[in-house]
Amino acid sequence: MNIHEYQAKALLKTFGAPVAEGVPIFSADEAEAAAKQLPGPLYVVKSQIHAGGRGKGKFTELGADSKGGVRLAKSIEEVVAHAKEMLGNTLVTKQTGEAGKQVNRLYIEDGADIDRELYLSILIDRTVGRPAFVVSTEGGMDIEAVAHDTPEKIITVAVDPETGLTQSDLDTLTSSLKLEGEAKADGEKLFPILYKAFVETDMSLLEVNPLIVMTDGRLRVLDAKVSFDGNAMFRHDDIRQLRDETEEDAKEIEASKWDLAYVALDGNIGCMVNGAGLAMATMDIIKLYGKEPANFCDVGGGAGKEKVAAAFKIITADPKVEGILVNIFGGIMKCDVIAEGVVAAVQEVGLKVPLVVRLEGTNVDLGKKILNESGLAITAADDLDDAAKKIVAAIQA
Ligand code: ADP
Ligand code: MG
Repeated sequence: MNIHEYQAKALLKTFGAPVAEGVPIFSADEAEAAAKQLPGPLYVVKSQIHAGGRGKGKFTELGADSKGGVRLAKSIEEVVAHAKEMLGNTLVTKQTGEAGKQVNRLYIEDGADIDRELYLSILIDRTVGRPAFVVSTEGGMDIEAVAHDTPEKIITVAVDPETGLTQSDLDTLTSSLKLEGEAKADGEKLFPILYKAFVETDMSLLEVNPLIVMTDGRLRVLDAKVSFDGNAMFRHDDIRQLRDETEEDAKEIEASKWDLAYVALDGNIGCMVNGAGLAMATMDIIKLYGKEPANFCDVGGGAGKEKVAAAFKIITADPKVEGILVNIFGGIMKCDVIAEGVVAAVQEVGLKVPLVVRLEGTNVDLGKKILNESGLAITAADDLDDAAKKIVAAIQA
């Protein structure tokens, strides 16, 4: 689960991290009052969308010479003018894809006098099974480009969860970031704060890009991108409230209501499978035969007919889907339950695209019987390979 920058900053502030003063707004009418609460004379108007690269982004409606999604303003009038131009429009950044994201919220923030922009993130380093800090003096810009062109400028410090950040870890971090004087003292305070926030709120990513050294020598968290581990959100009621469903894929929201493991993808063959491994293999084999899956979907082992029907409806409602492949190896999941779910969903929403079904395992004969007697136009397949070939052929026909 992701949250907006302003929400991440408010959260980090409760742990004691230095962030700028700022006010979130939802309409341009609120811009003037928001700016008046800040000290000035420099303000920043920041688009709040769940994607980075906003500064260098462009608004679709404003054409080729559109200014970016993060703008400096030297007066309250300028703040208001930017707010009017940005709210409601579509921001396209490197991370949004071509369609971009509509800006529905802005963060009006106190402008900082920046001396240096640094990069800092904390994530789980799966190779060592520990939370790790990733830092670089080359902050503010595209960290992927730094990693590609000058990997030696990126330093990773894995933290032992038993001890937490040690003095030696802190020394490595402050020296890697070339922090001195007050900035070094600020860093020694800030890094444990960020680590504590990361662990206690079950974050999977905390990215501060940039972390800045200001001209007065102090550190400040200037941007904050936070993702949480969805599996831990049951124990964070307060954080769950921060979810902004307008930022999420509607199909994934519906799937999460049914506790389905569903991820929307870009292709046009919809997949309904039981078991994550089989779902991955199904996606691979579709690609092997030259097409792309429209989704990952694991209906799980213990699903009932209603859940299966819900999954099937989510898949058919996707306008990109030109054909559907149902691939079930019935173990705990019974083939007849799958068949009943598919039939129920089709009776409700219809079926406008080819459907290939491969059933194997528990109650397979009963499952096949239910499908045969349903009168649906289903192409049966004998195995995974046959199923993939048939669905690819069907959508090319
Ligand atoms: P994004 O990473 O999505 O482009 P950032 O929040 O990192 O958005 O902002 C982009 C750039 O804008 C920063 O690297 C920084 O140079 C500048 N900036 C952002 N916030 C402020 C601020 N409060 N004061 C001064 N400059 C800022
Ligand atoms: Mg940034």
